[in-house]
Amino acid sequence: MVGQEVAKKILRRSFEENRLAQSYLFYGPSGVGKEMAAFELAQALNCTGVEAPCGACSQCQKTVSFNHPDLHYVFPVPHPSGESDKKKLAEEIAELLARKAEKPYLSLDFDRPVAITIDDIRVLQSKLSLQPYQGKKKAVIIIRPEAMTTEAANAFLKTLEEPSPTTNFILVCDKPNALLSTILSRCQKIRFMRLDRAEVVQNLEERHGLDPAQARMLASLSQGSLGQALEMMDLDLLEERRMAGDLLRAGLEKRYAEMMEAIDLATGEKGRPQRVLEMMSAIALEAIHPEPQASPEVLSLARLLTGPQLNRITANMELARTALSRNVTPRLCLMAACSPDIIKEEL
Ligand SMILES: [Zn+2]
Repeated sequence: MVGQEVAKKILRRSFEENRLAQSYLFYGPSGVGKEMAAFELAQALNCTGVEAPCGACSQCQKTVSFNHPDLHYVFPVPHPSGESDKKKLAEEIAELLARKAEKPYLSLDFDRPVAITIDDIRVLQSKLSLQPYQGKKKAVIIIRPEAMTTEAANAFLKTLEEPSPTTNFILVCDKPNALLSTILSRCQKIRFMRLDRAEVVQNLEERHGLDPAQARMLASLSQGSLGQALEMMDLDLLEERRMAGDLLRAGLEKRYAEMMEAIDLATGEKGRPQRVLEMMSAIALEAIHPEPQASPEVLSLARLLTGPQLNRITANMELARTALSRNVTPRLCLMAACSPDIIKEEL
């Protein structure tokens, strides 16, 4: 776990003094280590090594590979109605978990609506009614508890109200305000902070072997979310940066056909419009005060961009970013972002 000294200190001390709360809420921005911390705590509960969590004993290993019978990992999933779809879903989930065991930072995304339903909570409750199988303790990690339906949340509340000395709950949540206040009040809250850009860069270089330029680019794009930066490692970001440069240049030179072509490419994949937009603003900023070793794309843009244009572009990009987060069509957002002549009232 990177950074998060305060959270670490509280948890370590409670663990060492044997005063762990029955239920924790780990909250804060996404991708800053909440889930990682939840797994470390779950490991510590059953670790048989010298210094818990050792990460090496069979209990620790089973926990992070989702093979520990006393680890209950609950996260929002689609709820198909047909039996054959349920079977397909079970396979899909098994595959996702296998990938996540390799790359713990992956978020479990589905391309359809998800929830934690009353059925999911009933399954959990029936498992919790048994004694721990292999460990001393049962650990329940619930990802995005705010995705519980009202029924599910009320049923889960009953479980929280009947504490068991052998069970610890860890709720991992980006949006605590969306949780039932009755659930919130039953959890000890541990806040996780946004990471410094420097912490993200350092981790990417030292733990994941990225070169400094790549690490800096990922850190800026992910805005302090190490989880997101790691997920982006597998993408072809250089290709996307080229797209961003092309788009910016086509917009400035009013070559609209090329601009639309570049926009088609940039909207072709999930998450890409956001990244391309971030890269466009990074490139635009680099172009206004180009460093001597700047890339050719930045230098050629520097010759095109005037100060007032940059101001308009930056304002438009800010607007496009907000619009994108509010589900305005990515094509429209990118169009606005690369056309200095579009005034913001048009978006
Ligand atoms: Zn261990």
